[in-house]
Amino acid sequence: MGTATLTIDLGALTANWRALDAMSASETAAVVKADGYGLGADRVGRALARVGARTFFVAAAEEGAALRQALGPGPAINVFSGHMRGDTDMIGDMALTPMVNSMDQLVRHVEALPGHPFGIQLDTGMNRLGMEPGEWGAVRDIAMAQQPTVIMSHLACADEPDHAMNAQQLAAFREMTADLDVPLSLANTGGILLGEDYHFDLARPGIGLYGGAPYADARPVVTLAIPVIQCRDLEAGETVGYGNSFTATRPTRIATVAAGYADGIIRAMGSGTVLRQGDQSCPVAGRISMDLIGVDITDLEDPDPKSLDLLDQSQGIDRLADAAGTIGYEILTSMGARYQRRYTGG
Ligand SMILES: *Cc1c(COP(=O)(O)O)cnc(C)c1O
Repeated sequence: MGTATLTIDLGALTANWRALDAMSASETAAVVKADGYGLGADRVGRALARVGARTFFVAAAEEGAALRQALGPGPAINVFSGHMRGDTDMIGDMALTPMVNSMDQLVRHVEALPGHPFGIQLDTGMNRLGMEPGEWGAVRDIAMAQQPTVIMSHLACADEPDHAMNAQQLAAFREMTADLDVPLSLANTGGILLGEDYHFDLARPGIGLYGGAPYADARPVVTLAIPVIQCRDLEAGETVGYGNSFTATRPTRIATVAAGYADGIIRAMGSGTVLRQGDQSCPVAGRISMDLIGVDITDLEDPDPKSLDLLDQSQGIDRLADAAGTIGYEILTSMGARYQRRYTGG
């Protein structure tokens, strides 16, 4: 086989959801935007629904419509971008719940779909989505009369527990929702870890479900095995790859594996990265190309490996993210369309 195999452990995914759920007294939703952080929102969503998740969040109505088809009727599917122009039919037909984030969206929603569920998104300082205190003050009574299903806001610095922004946003959220009789939601994965002050009624973890930081105790969910196309022996002084960026300093054996930056293996990871066979590590040799990577297997016991792992139980998404100067979220959501996807543990 000439393409890599991405194995998604749905057992680890559901174990992560249960563990995060056990950390709070609140209901625990699941954020499955961007196709379930690249892992397949349909499979991820069904696995989480089976273990008890009743509320899901997506970024856009189109994602919500696809998820509704996978989940069937029942679970709430909340849409962060709210009620956008042109979304009315989809929101109505697919029973989606927009998180309206402005007065304009609120008016659009209640006029187009009177009586249809909606939630409200408040801005508590991130300045990304949601109504600011002034706007909220003006529409609060009208909005509350329409009985929103949830009022939510999002933390900008939840992965930095000591950041002053957390307490500041918490105070703003409390002030904006004081005396309201409606379920409240503030915490993403990092917010759950900040402790019970942040939990409110509904937690919204994403990255922690998929095995990423800041949830340090998460079980790894993805492994990636890349087939070896060819192995060759170099003499000292020979070079590998574009720009001759690797020069052999000794007799060297190179394996060429079938994946590259077109599969989301970020080129900037470069030579700090290793591929693995069992517990042995083999450094990347030379530049990552579009479809190929050279790997120095000189010290590997097996001279002809059939495949090498870029992600395994000990090298996870956050290790790759560090090497590429990015975050686990980007590693996951960049995962290539060419990979064979295999689901286990469902
Ligand atoms: C993506 C997102 C989440 C989930 O965040 P994680 O850090 O992945 O847990 C929660 N709420 C909102 C508004 C989001 O955009």
